[in-house]
Amino acid sequence: MSQCTLVHSRAELQDRLTGVDFSRRYVVMTMGALHRGHAALIERARRDAGDDGVVIVTVYVNALQFNDDADLQRYPRTLESDVQLAQRAGVDVVWAPTADDVFPNGPAEFDTDPGAIGDLYEGASRPGHFRGMLTVVRAFITALQPAVAYFGEKDYQQLALIKQMVQQLQLPTAVVGVPTVREADGLALSSRNVFLTERQRSQACGISRALFAGQAAAVHGRAAVFEAVDAVLSAYMIEPDYRALVGEDFAVDARQRARMLLAAKVGDVRLIDNIAIEFASTSGEPA
Ligand code: AMP
Repeated sequence: MSQCTLVHSRAELQDRLTGVDFSRRYVVMTMGALHRGHAALIERARRDAGDDGVVIVTVYVNALQFNDDADLQRYPRTLESDVQLAQRAGVDVVWAPTADDVFPNGPAEFDTDPGAIGDLYEGASRPGHFRGMLTVVRAFITALQPAVAYFGEKDYQQLALIKQMVQQLQLPTAVVGVPTVREADGLALSSRNVFLTERQRSQACGISRALFAGQAAAVHGRAAVFEAVDAVLSAYMIEPDYRALVGEDFAVDARQRARMLLAAKVGDVRLIDNIAIEFASTSGEPA
C-alpha cells in the first residue's frame, strides 16, 4: 500500500499534486471523524481511480455550514485516526486546511445561493446551512479541479444541491452519489452518533425502521407510505422535524422513483436519513 501524505497548506498541497493531471484526481470531501460511511466513498474513489489516479480526502470542519455554535464547538475532531483510516482505505493525500487555505481571498469569492430547493427541509430547519456547504464545496472543487467528487446519499438534499450547482456553474467535475452505509440494526452511520447515549441509540433505530416500513408500503401508494412511517415513529416516540417525499434528485414532477427524507432529534442529537421509494405508478397511487 502506498503511503498517504497529510498536507495542510495550499503550498504543500500543490507541491504534492505537481504533475498530477486534473483528470487523475478523485476527491472525497469530509468534515473528519471518519467512519465506515466515509470509507465507502473513499473505496469507491480508489476503485474508480485505479493505479494511475490520485485519491484526495479533504478534512475540514466548515464553520459556514453550522448555524448553531455549540454544534460547531462539539463536532468531533480526530485527525490522527482519520489519517489512519484514510491510509487503510487507500487514500493518497489527506488535505486538512485552515479557513485561510480554503478561502485565501475570503469566502465571498465562492458564495453560492442554493436557490429554492435550499429553503426546503434541512434548509428550513438550518438557515444558511446549504449556502455555507455549497460555498465550501465550490472552493474545494476550484482548488482541486477533480475529475470526480464523491458524496453520500445519506445527505440526499446536499447531494441534489451539489449536482445542481455543478451543472449551473458548469464545473468540470462529475458528481457521484454513494449509497448510505448503515449499522447492522439500520441506523445510518454519522459522526454525530457518538453523542447518543445507549438509550437514545436504541430509540434512534426508529428512524431507519420507519423508512424501511415506508419503503415496504410503497406498493400501496403514497398515503400508505406516510402511514407506515408515522406508525413506526410514534412507536419509538420520535417526533419528526420533517418527513417528506420528494422526486429522485428533487425532481418536482410526479415520478415512480422517489425519496422519503426524515429528520428528527433524539435527545439533543439531530439525525437525518432517507430511503428510495419505488411506486407502482408515476402518480404514486397503487397500480
Ligand atoms: P461529513 O463528514 O458528515 O460532512 O460527510 C462527508 C461525506 O460523507 C458526505 O458526502 C456524506 O454524505 C458522506 N457520508 C456521511 N455518512 C455517510 C454514510 N453513513 N453513508 C454514506 N456516506 C456518508
